[in-house]
Amino acid sequence: MKQLELTIPNATGLHARPAKAFVKLVKKFKSSVKIEHGSKVVNAKSMISVLTLGVKHAGVIRVLIDGADEQAAAVAIEEAVRTGLGEPLDHAPAPAQKGKSAAPPPPPRVNPNLIQGIAASQGIAIGPIFKLERGEVVVDGVFEGIAPEKSKLQSALSEARRAIEALAQKTTETVGEEEAGIFEAQIELLEDPDILEEVQAGIANKQSAAVAWKQVVLARAETLSQVSDPLLAARSADMRDVGQRVLAILAGQKSGMAALPDTPIIIIADDLSPSDTVSLDKSRVLGFCTASGGPNAHSAILARALGLPAIVGAGDGVLELENGTAVVLDGGSGELTLRPSVEKIAAAQAEQAKLTQALEAAQAAAADAAITIDGTRVEVVANVGGVADAELAYESGAEGVGLLRTEFLFMGREEAPSEDEQFEVYRDVVTALHLQPVIVRTLDVGGDKPLAYIDVPEEDNPFLGERGIRLCLNRPELLKEQLRAIIRAAKFGKIRIMFPMVSDISELLQAKQMVADVCDELSAPMVEVGIMIEVPSAALMADVLAPHVDFFSIGTNDLTQYTMAIDRMHPIMAKQADGLHPAVLRLISQTVKGAHAAGKWVGVCGELGADVKAVPILIGLGVDELSVSAPAVPAVKAQIRGLQLADAEKLAQKALQCATAQEVRSLG
Ligand code: PEP
Ligand code: MG
Repeated sequence: MKQLELTIPNATGLHARPAKAFVKLVKKFKSSVKIEHGSKVVNAKSMISVLTLGVKHAGVIRVLIDGADEQAAAVAIEEAVRTGLGEPLDHAPAPAQKGKSAAPPPPPRVNPNLIQGIAASQGIAIGPIFKLERGEVVVDGVFEGIAPEKSKLQSALSEARRAIEALAQKTTETVGEEEAGIFEAQIELLEDPDILEEVQAGIANKQSAAVAWKQVVLARAETLSQVSDPLLAARSADMRDVGQRVLAILAGQKSGMAALPDTPIIIIADDLSPSDTVSLDKSRVLGFCTASGGPNAHSAILARALGLPAIVGAGDGVLELENGTAVVLDGGSGELTLRPSVEKIAAAQAEQAKLTQALEAAQAAAADAAITIDGTRVEVVANVGGVADAELAYESGAEGVGLLRTEFLFMGREEAPSEDEQFEVYRDVVTALHLQPVIVRTLDVGGDKPLAYIDVPEEDNPFLGERGIRLCLNRPELLKEQLRAIIRAAKFGKIRIMFPMVSDISELLQAKQMVADVCDELSAPMVEVGIMIEVPSAALMADVLAPHVDFFSIGTNDLTQYTMAIDRMHPIMAKQADGLHPAVLRLISQTVKGAHAAGKWVGVCGELGADVKAVPILIGLGVDELSVSAPAVPAVKAQIRGLQLADAEKLAQKALQCATAQEVRSLG
């Protein structure tokens, strides 16, 4: 047993980065290593445990090392801590020691030039900041009579609607259909009957249209922003966005963003509305950092889709910065470095060049197959929400569609789309893929995605209730109509059908029988049928299910949620719902084994498929296909081309033996 007493020299103590370096180093040794600090003793191979010690600058830790290689470990640990665990140290001379009494530790030094926000969209931006300040819309309180005010309101709503529709159209063309859905949801807000009723009541009470609108809409937005559900909080930003737009029209002002300088800038704002974000001119705006907002905010989603480096939730401090302050914004780590040194700028430029080069190389090779160095081909396909996404997927080098989320066709409307309407969309998606395979997932609603025209009784636990295939099997007419539309579209390309949320073989057999019946009715050949593996029971029973399907596709978003019992949108817990948790990986491994034993292939269509850390592990577990968002296709393909299957397999086996997702993430 070896013991070391060490003082942590790092300015911010044993925080994330040095702690990670410490844990990584310790893991190289077989010996058990513990850290004692104050009254706590923790395993030094666990990052979370090391972080929970909260060791500050100049804090003293005792390291207890026990095992065959303890001598080598002690030497390496002592040296690594002394030299700052990979961080540059402040070399100010240490205070002179007087006699035996230790000098009081200096106060922890907070780096005044570093602001830590939430990483929202990868990439590095270097440049001066420009604060986007939104002027209050001056509201006209003059009441001209009930009829004129009502008519002013009506025409402002129509004008706002036209503007939002144009924005949705632009977003569909430049970003994608799913993202354009953000604006379609805004149109719903414009038409919300409760809001309109309240505004009309205000007008009836002799308020001008502008005053009534402002009161009602801003009050609603405020209430929504107070709730802890991140989805609802995002709706509050939409409500403000829509509210401001209508208000500006009523006040006869130009809505939208203040004029930006002509030179490249990094935007700092309290928050950015979705319309602000899609309207950003990428030739001038290098990135943005907001004081509020979270990674699920629409501005963050849009930034990722636009490839714009972004940090959110950086705190009000960023609003105090002076316009023109030079910064380095790292959207991958969430760090905003103020007044960077020449060295910092050079390092950021080098990193930026590396990222750009890698992206350009990946894009140039986007159409090529993804084959590992040792010759294993992995299909990389795309998750799409409609025809425009499908076109983008084809252009991005996707080898097909691994998941067509058909629910987008069914959402935001008063009644279900007709069979013909559905048929046309499915046919156009297949056509856009030029005969490459398209997996159409049948309607996956219920739970988090309720529909106005499908009556699902109030449920205490909607995620455990009538969701996905369960809801459709309970409403066979709805499913049958969709299956007819899909089978008719199958004539135009290669369609496969996939059922969501299958948790029991009886659901699969029933749904598959419906496909066979519809094919008979339409005198069409049977199509391939697969299921999503997103409920632990299905993963555990993969060997039993496999003989009845043509393929599996693992929905890691839901599989993680149901395995970890963490709501995937939970404001506090969702961070811990990591698909790289060994429990989820073990289920994926079991699914692959079950499928391969029956000669069937397995895809992954959850977010995990595009996670840089997950790609080698999934390939190493034997996954045959990755389905990711269209813009991610080139990078995922490029990553696969740099892998050796044998190494990936070893990594996957190690991951299965880890205790936590953090441990898995620190492998390799
Ligand atoms: C999943 O659950 O991983 C999945 C791809 O389906 P969705 O995200 O649409 O629920
Ligand atoms: Mg799912």
